[in-house]
Amino acid sequence: MEKQVQKYVEDFMANLKAKNPGEKEFHQAVQEVVESLAPYILENPQLQKMKIMERMTEPERVVMFRVPWLNDKGEVEINKGYRVQMNSAIGPYKGGIRFHSSVNLSILKFLAFEQTFKNSLTTLPMGGGKGGSDFNPKGKSDNEVMKFCQSFMTELQRHIGQDTDVPAGDIGVGGREIGFMFGQYKRLRNEFTGTLTGKGLGWGGSPLRPEATGYGTCYFAQEMLATRGDSFKGKTVVISGSGNVAQYATQKATQLGAKVVTLSDSNGYIYDADGIDADKLAYVMELKNVFRGRIKEYVEKYPKAQYFEGQRPWGVKCDIAMPCATQNELNGEEAATLVKNGCICVAEGANMPSTPEAIETFQKNGLLYSPGKASNAGGVATSGLEMTQNSMRLKWSPEEVDAKLHSIMKDIHAACVKYGTEPSGYINYVKGANIAGFIKVANAMLAQGLV
Ligand code: NDP
Repeated sequence: MEKQVQKYVEDFMANLKAKNPGEKEFHQAVQEVVESLAPYILENPQLQKMKIMERMTEPERVVMFRVPWLNDKGEVEINKGYRVQMNSAIGPYKGGIRFHSSVNLSILKFLAFEQTFKNSLTTLPMGGGKGGSDFNPKGKSDNEVMKFCQSFMTELQRHIGQDTDVPAGDIGVGGREIGFMFGQYKRLRNEFTGTLTGKGLGWGGSPLRPEATGYGTCYFAQEMLATRGDSFKGKTVVISGSGNVAQYATQKATQLGAKVVTLSDSNGYIYDADGIDADKLAYVMELKNVFRGRIKEYVEKYPKAQYFEGQRPWGVKCDIAMPCATQNELNGEEAATLVKNGCICVAEGANMPSTPEAIETFQKNGLLYSPGKASNAGGVATSGLEMTQNSMRLKWSPEEVDAKLHSIMKDIHAACVKYGTEPSGYINYVKGANIAGFIKVANAMLAQGLV
């Protein structure tokens, strides 16, 4: 059986790479999934015969377009715009929009592919999609960001809709950008619907949507720790990133009794041995969300903290690590350092932040390790709850949404335990999340015929 599995994975990946040359992030995401699904697929010949996995790795549709706009100097700028509509077997396409200079088709296909599994895990009826642009919002004025968002949405609006495709935020797309895009969508389509999520609270947004990804990641980590009779209480936590996910992961981990000692951005990380408490976090939120500053400014405000230029925080001794910045930000060597320093739990807030070597190191050493598609699913789950509230034209209280988010994260954890527990008792969350997410989508695809 082992040989058969290996051959299936090798053949599948060779074919995928030949059809999608050079898309290394997409290859990496698919490889991880195919490795854990191969035994299940081989046991179910119908899945093989109907080429479910082959179909799941071919987007239903990819839209690529030109985004022209004028900067503040009156000069013409051109960016690339994309929407990858990956899979709509269980609901309308759903997934974020990323604005970052690194955005390309490979990154968006990996994200849309992961999103399909993640959305299935949430138990809500949402398909998988992802979009974005190589536009870099850093250093741009509000006016430039608005002009770009309007031009981007002028084309994107043809391809989305509340029953078709519902985008949200991601790296570089927060409340400001969602506002500008929603405004333009509403103007062009002459409708006020829930086509974008992550909207402001006063105009269709859900309570707790900004908090949901970071909070959900902590709720998931709480469940993992509980399997070993442990909790966040008294733990030292290392977090990367300082954007939406990192900020609210810091807030929740602190509320749960842990001490968060690091945050980072693409230039370096800060280490605060005393912990980033509520007041310090409020400063970070203002620095990042209002003044759009750099994390190194933290040490000017709190001189007892230290800043490490050009470095990532994984060398800092901790009990729990939460990568919340971007893909492939934690490699095998850094994983070995975390293990050596006594880390017991790694909960991913970002998408695919750990390299395959890092994942192998965590699993070999028996750490509690959750892939982003399971532990960061609280964001899209709450987007799903925003869609529900929009359709019903009412708003739930923060407590109601938090209770629903908490229970969804517990359900995702239970699904991972069900499908990922190995004979040794070790919970392989990668395998659990991949199989649980896959079954629902695969069954829907089988039922819907060859589409
Ligand atoms: P933000 O744009 O709010 O923050 C991103 C953070 O990551 C910033 O601190 C940024 O630093 C840092 N970062 C980005 N790119 C790099 C890089 N190449 N190297 C080092 N640091 C980098 O994004 P989010 O917090 O929303 O997203 C973070 C991660 O979480 C992403 O992987 C995203 O896909 C994932 N995610 C987000 C969800 C959400 O609801 N927002 C939902 C599920 C997953 P800098 O300012 O220097 O760029």
